[in-house]
Amino acid sequence: MRDSYDYLIVGAGLSGLVLAERLGSLGRSCLVVERRNHIGGNCHDRKDRNGLFYHVYGPHYFRTNSEQVRTYLSRFTGWADAKYRVNVFTRGTHWSFPINLGTFRQFTGNAAATEDDFKAYLARSALPIASPANSKEAMLAAVGVELYELFYRGYTEKQWGRPVEALDASVCRRLPIHTGLDERYFRDEFQALPKLGYQPMFDAILEASKADLRLETDYREVLPRVRHRHLIYTGPLDEYFDCRFGPLPYRTARYDLEEIDASRVPAGGFVQPVLQVNYPGPEPYTRTVELKHVTGQVSRCSNLVREFPSEYRPGESDPNYPIPGPESDALAASYRELAGREPGVTFIGRLAQYRYLNMDQVVGAALHTFEKLRDGTP
Ligand code: FAD
Ligand code: UDP
Repeated sequence: MRDSYDYLIVGAGLSGLVLAERLGSLGRSCLVVERRNHIGGNCHDRKDRNGLFYHVYGPHYFRTNSEQVRTYLSRFTGWADAKYRVNVFTRGTHWSFPINLGTFRQFTGNAAATEDDFKAYLARSALPIASPANSKEAMLAAVGVELYELFYRGYTEKQWGRPVEALDASVCRRLPIHTGLDERYFRDEFQALPKLGYQPMFDAILEASKADLRLETDYREVLPRVRHRHLIYTGPLDEYFDCRFGPLPYRTARYDLEEIDASRVPAGGFVQPVLQVNYPGPEPYTRTVELKHVTGQVSRCSNLVREFPSEYRPGESDPNYPIPGPESDALAASYRELAGREPGVTFIGRLAQYRYLNMDQVVGAALHTFEKLRDGTP
């Protein structure tokens, strides 16, 4: 580590690494400081004792409609097409999900139900709410009470620890509803995982950046010792300002890995029918993920990661999810306003912008921010 850099970058997640690489390509010197003992932020993946991949901080399914983002990341990784299939397990049954004609057929017990039957059901059941103000209204307006109760209410309350009406409409609207037999969880054109996992992709981005890296270091430790022309901050927005308006709410989760030896894996090679199973019922976890369904790894063994959501406590857990809704809107706006006025600092990423952003959105934002930094004078 030197005592002077062009850029001090806080956080070695996607936002921080993409900016380090882009700025490095102009010959700018960067120091990346990361609190954790690895790079990659929440997208970090590893192999278990049987050599099978798992996602350490919850499932990360890459998808995008952005040609620019895809082209950029393709410089650092090859891709393996991934079909992200998800079921819901409730009332003793695995249901096709997100809601589609197959789900409707299961729900009505009528295997011959048509798309028109399902559309007619939705027209009868959906509540006439013209401008849904929250996630509950959004789902009642989209699918009606029965399907909302079956698939959304329990899962959302467990995931967020709040009533569904406390959440912005955009939260539950993340998922599509198909009236045909389409079972895709996402609509994006490109759905694939880095061929060799996320970690080699991050290693390649870091290497190309030529940045210096300090792991297991809070940026506040190095701040007094490292001169820099500009700071790029990707940590939690409220933390930067010492929570001066009060803490922003976050949701977190624990991810428990279960490594499953060959003797416990059924003959088909998998322990659950699809990649991800969601649990809206009384189980203490929201979802189980068997990544082998999409990595293409061939093994007699398998693994499952169970996700147990809980309230975030600073210092004890990671602030995984910003909570979009009335409880955070005004507070987040106040912090964003402060951030906008902070000289010599760029706030970027899911935590620093306090927005529920996916990986491709974060990469797109980092590429855009790079252009602004390049064309400006920092
Ligand atoms: P992060 O990955 O959070 O990186 C920020 C880094 O900054 C962290 O490593 C942190 O340790 C570090 N840091 C914070 N404060 C400090 C400090 N004071 N000093 C030093 N370092 C600090 N996106 C998808 O596209 N598809 C998915 O399927 C998907 N699934 C997700 C599932 C879960 C459970 C979660 C939580 C997110 C998911 N996402 C998904 C979103 C994805 O994780 C983010 O879009 C992406 O990781 C954001 O990158 P980032 O660099 O902004 O933030
Ligand atoms: N959701 C739900 N039931 C499900 C899956 C999702 O009610 O079976 C709701 C829940 O509120 C969740 C949101 O839809 O937070 C978005 O789901 P997604 O799978 O995109 O969540 P993420 O991967 O971001 O945790």
